[in-house]
Amino acid sequence: MSQSTKDSSEKWVVSELIYEGKAKKIFSLQGHDDIVLVEFKDSLTAFNALKKGEFENKGKVNREITSLLFGYLTKGHVATHWIEDFGALSVIAKKLKIIPLEVVVRNVLAGSTAKKLGLAEGTPLKKPLVEFYYKDDALADPFLSDDQALMMNAATTEELQLLKTEALKINSLLISLFAKINLDLIDFKVEFGKDSFGKIFLADEITPDCCRLWDKTTSEKMDKDRFRRDLGLIKESYEEVLNRLKKVLI
Ligand code: UDP
Repeated sequence: MSQSTKDSSEKWVVSELIYEGKAKKIFSLQGHDDIVLVEFKDSLTAFNALKKGEFENKGKVNREITSLLFGYLTKGHVATHWIEDFGALSVIAKKLKIIPLEVVVRNVLAGSTAKKLGLAEGTPLKKPLVEFYYKDDALADPFLSDDQALMMNAATTEELQLLKTEALKINSLLISLFAKINLDLIDFKVEFGKDSFGKIFLADEITPDCCRLWDKTTSEKMDKDRFRRDLGLIKESYEEVLNRLKKVLI
C-alpha cells in the first residue's frame, strides 16, 4: 500500500488488504471489526473495465471530492459510511455489507439511457428517474426492475423504497450544491451498505467517476465521459471540480 497511508494517524493500524476493486482498495484495521480503511487508486476504467487508464493524483483528488461531498451530505442528514480522512488517499469508514445494487439517479438524459430510448443526450427530465442496476461484473451490471431486484434478493421492498428516497434526497442536496459552482448534475450512481444492525448507509464514493457534471455556461463535460469519449483534459477537469467545491465547502 502507499506510503501516505502508513505514516498518517497512529490511531489506526492497517492490517490486511481485504478487497481490491477498479478504483479503490479496502484494508482491515487492527483491533476493529466494524471499520475499514478505503484507499483511492489512480486508475480509471470504463465500459466494465474494457477501457483502462490512470492519471497522477487521481486517487487524492477523488478522495478529497468524496470527503467534501460526504461531509456536506452528512450535514444534510444523509447517513454515510465516512468516519474520518486518513492521509491523502484514504478514509476510515464503517464496514458495511454492500447492497448489490447500483442506484442511478438521472435529471437529464445522457449515456446509455439516451441511447437505449433513442432520445437526444441533454433531454431534461420532468422529474428525476431512479434506476437499479445489479452489481455483477460478469453480467456487466444489468438494469433490474424492482420486481427483478426482489427476485434476486438484492433488497427487500422496504429497502428498495428507502434506497429511492435516500437517492432522491442526495440528488436534491447535490443539485443545489453543484448549482453554486456552476455545474449541472446530469446523473450519478451511488451505492449503499448495511451495518451489522441492518441500518443502511451511503457507501462507496461520489466523484466525477460516477457523476455526469456539465458546466452551466459552456456545457463542457467535467466527468468520466472525458475519458470514455477521449475528450482530453481529464485530470484538469477532475481538479477543476475539486477546486470549485473547495470554494464553497471549505
Ligand atoms: N455509472 C457508474 N458506474 C457504472 C455505471 C454508471 O458510476 O457502472 C454512472 C455514470 O458515470 C453516470 C451514471 O452512473 O454518471 C449513469 O450512467 P449510465 O447508466 O448512463 O451508463 P453509461 O452511459 O455511463 O454506460
